[in-house]
Amino acid sequence: MSIFDIIVLVVTKMKRSTVDRSKLSPMMVQYMNIKDKHEDCLIFFRLGDFYEMFFDDAIIASRELELTLTGKNAGLEERVPMCGVPHHAYASYIDTLIEKGYKVAIVEQLEDPKTTKGMVKRDVIQIVTKGTRIDNSLDSKANNYIANIYDFDYCKGISYTDVSTGEFYTELLEGTNEEIVREIVRHGFRELIVNERIDRELVNTLRTTYGILITIMDDLSDDEEYKYIYENIDDIRITTTVRHLLYYVLDTKKGDLHHLKRCELVKNSKILFFDNNTKRNLELVETIRSRDRQYSLLWLLDKCKTAMGSRYLKQQIESPLTDKKELERRYDFIEKLSCEFILRDDLRTALNDVYDLERLAGRISYGNLNARDMLQLKRSLNALPTIKSILEQLNYDKKIETLEEVANILEKSIYEDPPLTLKEGSLIKDGYNDELDELRKISSGSKDFLLDIERQEKERTGIKNLKVGFNKVFGYYIEVSKGQKDLVKDEYGYERRQTLANCERFITPLLKEKENIILGAEEKIINLEYKLFMDIREIVKRYITNIQEISKVVSEVDMLQSFSVVSDEEKFVRPKLIKEKSLKLIDCRHPVVEKVLSDKYVSNDIIMDKSTDILLITGPNMAGKSTYMRQTAITVIMAQIGCFVPCKSCEMPIFDKIFTRIGASDDLVSGESTFMIEMKEANYAISEATESSLILFDELGRGTATYDGMSLAQAILEYIHDKIKAKTMFSTHYHELTGLEKELKHLKNVHVSAVEEDGKITFLHKVKAGSIDKSYGIHVASLAHLPKDLIKRSKDILDVYEHKSVKQETFMQTSLFELNEAEVEHVEQVNEVEEKIKAINPLEMSPMDALNFLYELKKKMKE
Ligand code: ADP
Repeated sequence: MSIFDIIVLVVTKMKRSTVDRSKLSPMMVQYMNIKDKHEDCLIFFRLGDFYEMFFDDAIIASRELELTLTGKNAGLEERVPMCGVPHHAYASYIDTLIEKGYKVAIVEQLEDPKTTKGMVKRDVIQIVTKGTRIDNSLDSKANNYIANIYDFDYCKGISYTDVSTGEFYTELLEGTNEEIVREIVRHGFRELIVNERIDRELVNTLRTTYGILITIMDDLSDDEEYKYIYENIDDIRITTTVRHLLYYVLDTKKGDLHHLKRCELVKNSKILFFDNNTKRNLELVETIRSRDRQYSLLWLLDKCKTAMGSRYLKQQIESPLTDKKELERRYDFIEKLSCEFILRDDLRTALNDVYDLERLAGRISYGNLNARDMLQLKRSLNALPTIKSILEQLNYDKKIETLEEVANILEKSIYEDPPLTLKEGSLIKDGYNDELDELRKISSGSKDFLLDIERQEKERTGIKNLKVGFNKVFGYYIEVSKGQKDLVKDEYGYERRQTLANCERFITPLLKEKENIILGAEEKIINLEYKLFMDIREIVKRYITNIQEISKVVSEVDMLQSFSVVSDEEKFVRPKLIKEKSLKLIDCRHPVVEKVLSDKYVSNDIIMDKSTDILLITGPNMAGKSTYMRQTAITVIMAQIGCFVPCKSCEMPIFDKIFTRIGASDDLVSGESTFMIEMKEANYAISEATESSLILFDELGRGTATYDGMSLAQAILEYIHDKIKAKTMFSTHYHELTGLEKELKHLKNVHVSAVEEDGKITFLHKVKAGSIDKSYGIHVASLAHLPKDLIKRSKDILDVYEHKSVKQETFMQTSLFELNEAEVEHVEQVNEVEEKIKAINPLEMSPMDALNFLYELKKKMKE
């Protein structure tokens, strides 16, 4: 056992709750008081150049961050468990802890230890949590929301804000726990605040199944300064919900959050609604398999030049619109941009210089910005006049301010290559402030003077390699090499300060005098630069609302120019939005599959006119059934975010909701079987869908026994057909269902064909009217390189089944359709043979009896 192990053993025994506080050192008492108020956080306690953690926090942090666990004397017999991280590198450690689901409270020294007698004051300056981060490590292309649920028993208020951009939204929801979970997961919230009244089962599901960080508390903000966020709303349920979330955000961030915008009421009726499963299944913002943005719809459409544009695009894809006027407005502008492609190029070039204004506004308000952020702001503002002029030439209908006055101040004030920190100087340009210029003159004049001293002293003493140098401990000194040190005479007035191996260092009264001036001036410069910087920040802060308005316009323009570029490159067309419930997508493609596929993509028509609500799609595996369905939904979504669509022509109504049951569900952790989840999703779709919805069901019912599945599938189809009348695409291997075309007026069969030649199968990916009954499953299996023997065996088995299939198909029909007389008779005979076999016991039969029995059966079969 090493000494380290012994320490670990000794220190880890001690718990904070069992400590005799009367014996603790004053600093540890201070720590305990702070920790008492923040039990749910790991405390990063600033001690000199380190952030230290104590007790359980230290044990957790040492394990999670792989830090050495040591101990600290705190007045007790045993040492208190402790570990720490250097203050300049704390950010990455906090990142790791936050990602692992912890909250971290940063405790700073609030007084300068050099000038304070006794113990310095310390307190929490900020609590860092998953949902309230505003640092640079956030993904610039996605929002980071913190949300709450406020349970009013009869309904629930949900609000959410991105503290880095200031966006604030709120909505009211009625519904079961399941629906609430669906809504929370749809938004992808990672941190939630809930009130005490909330159902703990709901909390549990969100915590354990979806890994959401949850804090339970009831406090409401009544901070006058932030009332503006909700004062335009009358509904007390909404204001309560907003105040609940606001309390938490203000309490954790502790700084100035005036960049938070007035909260916007979200109305689900104004968006094309779909849940998280659909978002995943259609691979809208990430792929299912690798959860990567690459190869998602977002990836394809994102030719944005700014982070704001990319974020806005993601928001739009997640919540498309239902407002025809707004969609047409977007199409018009895309069209205009595509015609004026030279202006579009100029616009793209100008947007290149626009940084993340939205998050910069957040940092200006909160105060965690540096001079480089100010430069980014300046460069962004400098690009605005060009953008404004281009938008005017394009007759764009929204105005954009250019804030030239702010750009001018920044141009005059902020140094072009400033350091990251604000306490090193080099922030402010010459000529901006007289006092600063004066101090700089003194400082540099004195430096020149030092060079003069070096020259003069060389001449006076004749010591050729004499140098004037500087270090932090001794300040300015005269250095003489060992070989020449005897040349130093008393009359020069040199005082020896330091002897090194190869030189001696001296000071003189004149040198010290100059040093005082220089160092005094330098300190003053640094302080003054800091103050000037803060003043500039205050000026800029007055323009935060304007900057946010500019960001909004830039985000939209950037997204639309991206749509225009992609539409040109990928040959998308303007959709025609019509009132009738009729969908006509000619030569439609799946835009991402088309982009990625090395072979040529086969386009297909999707035609569901007024009299067709359901397309029943049959076809072998791998033929392209689910791609066909997906491309329909993707086209609808693209049209409803205001983008052009991957078709030769497109006529469609505006949809209100999309439901999909395609591929695997992401609900694997819920403990329910795939079939159960499938049925729940089917239920969700049929209970929520309306006439204006789009439903995609891919092989629904396959998760159970054939007859079960087929019966359910048929019943669901009938239900949709008669009661819901939503546009529905339903793929199936149950060929028997294609007979429904005769029964259900609004159902049409289509199929995706394949050709078989010399035992090889080619998928044509072409969708045609009518149905097909071959599945080619074994061909697909052989394409997947299953062992040859196994493939052969399955062919043999299939052969057997196919010979028996008369019986099977007949049985199936019994349950679904009326049989003709001959079929009924045949079934009865087959059943009789079965009954006879069941009735005998071969062990009790003589060979002769057995032979007779066989003969009898054969006769029966022949009949
Ligand atoms: P199914 O649902 O019928 O089993 P998929 O829709 O999953 O088939 O398609 C299988 C593969 O075929 C896809 O991964 C894609 O590469 C290719 N594919 C599908 N549709 C097309 C098409 N229209 N043109 C070209 N390739 C396609």
